[in-house]
Amino acid sequence: MRALTLVADRELTVTDIAAPPPPAPDEVQIRVKAVALNHIDVWGYRGMAFAKRKLPLVVGAEASGEIVSAGEHATRFKPGQFVVMYGALTCGTCPACVAGRDNLCENVAGVLGFHVDGFAREVMNFPARLVIPVPDGVTARDAACAPIAFSTVQHMLFDNARLQPGETVLVHAGGSGIGTAAILMAKQIGCTVFTTVGDDAKAEKATALGADAVINYRTERFEHVVRKLTRKKGVDVVFEHVGADTFNGSLLCLKRGGRLVTCGSTSGPTTTINLMQLFQQQYRIIGSFGASMRNIAESLDKMAAGMKPVIDTEVPIANVESALKRMESRQVFGKIVVTF
Ligand SMILES: [Zn+2]
Repeated sequence: MRALTLVADRELTVTDIAAPPPPAPDEVQIRVKAVALNHIDVWGYRGMAFAKRKLPLVVGAEASGEIVSAGEHATRFKPGQFVVMYGALTCGTCPACVAGRDNLCENVAGVLGFHVDGFAREVMNFPARLVIPVPDGVTARDAACAPIAFSTVQHMLFDNARLQPGETVLVHAGGSGIGTAAILMAKQIGCTVFTTVGDDAKAEKATALGADAVINYRTERFEHVVRKLTRKKGVDVVFEHVGADTFNGSLLCLKRGGRLVTCGSTSGPTTTINLMQLFQQQYRIIGSFGASMRNIAESLDKMAAGMKPVIDTEVPIANVESALKRMESRQVFGKIVVTF
C-alpha cells in the first residue's frame, strides 16, 4: 500500500506500508481520495526544531476519502460514503471537546501529518467520532479543502472576528488557499473586500473572485492604499496570516475598535507592536488556529450550496515534492490537491 513519507528534512518518498487491519468498533476504514496541501506541510517538509515528531512520517493534514467499512459502533457510516477527517487527534472528553470547541482540546495527541502519521496513504483506520460526512454534490477534490482551509477561514471570520454583512475586510495573500476562501466567504455575505497579492497575474484572478480592490504588495505599500480606499477610516477586520512582514501595517489599516484575526506567520513569527496604539485605538487582536468539527460541516455546506474552492493544481502523489516547493515560493493561486 502506497504512502507518501517524509524520511528526512526536505526528503519525501513514496513508500510501501502494510495495509491496516479491520477497523476497531469505534473506527472506520477509509480509502483516501484526495489530500490538500497547506502551509503546515511546508513547515513539516522544511523541518521544525520545536515540533515533537519522529521520522519517517506519513504526511498529509487535510483529506477526503470514502468509507470502506465501519466498526460495529460506527453505525453512522456506510461503505461507499464520502467523508472528510478532522486533522488532529483530540480526546473527545475534555470540557473543550464536549463543548464542541475541538481546536481547544486540552489533551490533543497530535496533528495528522505533522506530529503523527497523516492522511497521504491509500487506506487507513480512523476514529469515527473525528469523521464528517460530505453532502451530496461535493467532489472528493473540493471536500479535501474543507477540514483545514475552508474551516480555518470559517472559524476566523465568523467565530472569532464576528464579521458582519456590509463590513470592510482586508484579506492578506489573496492568492493563497485560505486567502481565496476568505475572499469568497466575505463576499458571500456582502462585505467589501480588499486583498493583497504578489504579482499582477494573481491580481487579475483575485478580482475575478470578487475582490473589490487588489493591492500588489511588491509595488505599493498596502497600508497606504487601504487608508486611501477607506478615506483614512480603516477597515473593520484584517485577515492576517503573513506575520512579521505585514503585522504592523495591518494594525495601521484597522479602524478604531477594529479586529485583527491571525492564523499564521509565514514571513516570520516575531514582531513588536506599539501598545499605545493598541489600547488607544481599541484594537482586538485574535489568534486563531484550526477549527471545530462544526466549522468543517459548515464549510462543506457552503461547498454544497455552490461555493467552490479555488484549485491551483491537482498533482499525482509522485509530484508532491515539486508542488511543495512551488508553494514555498508562493507560485500558487488557490489550493494544490494530491489525488490518489
Ligand atoms: Zn479534548
